[in-house]
Amino acid sequence: MQKINNKILLESIKFAEGEFLPLQFIEKQELIEEIVQKFDTLNNAQAEKIKLSDIEIDDDTLLHFDEPTEIIQEDISPQVSEKTISNWQETTTIDELNNSISGCMLCKFGETRTNIVFGDGNPNAEIMIIGEAPGKNEDQSGIPFVGDAGKLLDKILEAIHLSRQDVYIANVVKCRPPGNKTPTEVDFIPCLPYLKKQIELISPKIILTLGAVPLLALFGKGYQITKVRGQELKYNGITVIPTFHPAYLLRNPNAKRDVWEDVQKLEKIYQNIKSK
Ligand code: SF4
Repeated sequence: MQKINNKILLESIKFAEGEFLPLQFIEKQELIEEIVQKFDTLNNAQAEKIKLSDIEIDDDTLLHFDEPTEIIQEDISPQVSEKTISNWQETTTIDELNNSISGCMLCKFGETRTNIVFGDGNPNAEIMIIGEAPGKNEDQSGIPFVGDAGKLLDKILEAIHLSRQDVYIANVVKCRPPGNKTPTEVDFIPCLPYLKKQIELISPKIILTLGAVPLLALFGKGYQITKVRGQELKYNGITVIPTFHPAYLLRNPNAKRDVWEDVQKLEKIYQNIKSK
């Protein structure tokens, strides 16, 4: 009989909420997806927490999820504050969009940020790079990817003969999550329309997504970075190449070879586009 423990179950709940799996759970992914499906079928909602006794759970126990009694529902609709920006949808340039959301307080991250980290680079770029959320250095400077991960991103771009002037860089979430927490789906829902508007205004030919969050934001669940990394996906007709986040590479240097393959693919597509 297949056995799981509470830790895997809790990771399943986090996964259902839109977080990506820690590496040590990747090998349990099929089991976790099975559990998540059960949750989706049962309540079609986000599970915030479930009380679990500290015992091992087997397949028989899983069947009891048909009658969940202690899942607390969470309202994930954005809370619109009085400072909500009303006219950003009508903006026609990146600068206008930037200005129009500069006072945004749509979500809790607005309360603790120093600066909104809107985006950086060439607004006419054919390549757009999308990360997850600003960190401490980005929050201080208002510029995306300026810390160690940013320096690594610069080197990656340099390796394929590009610089920041050749690309436009943005994050899914524009304000720093306290403690550099990885944003969940609940976290990024209020901010995601801004990213989609940025994509519309930049109108890139290729998007490079970094890490799990932009993948989840643009494609939804079912597109996991470990499975689709390096594949050519399509978002509104735009070619998307997903790869690992540079911050992940700093912790896992062995993954650099994968990223190198992915960005070489991006370079090839870019050269093809330029030669037409
Ligand atoms: S994270 Fe996005 S939605 Fe939240 S306050 Fe900042 S700009 Fe607004």
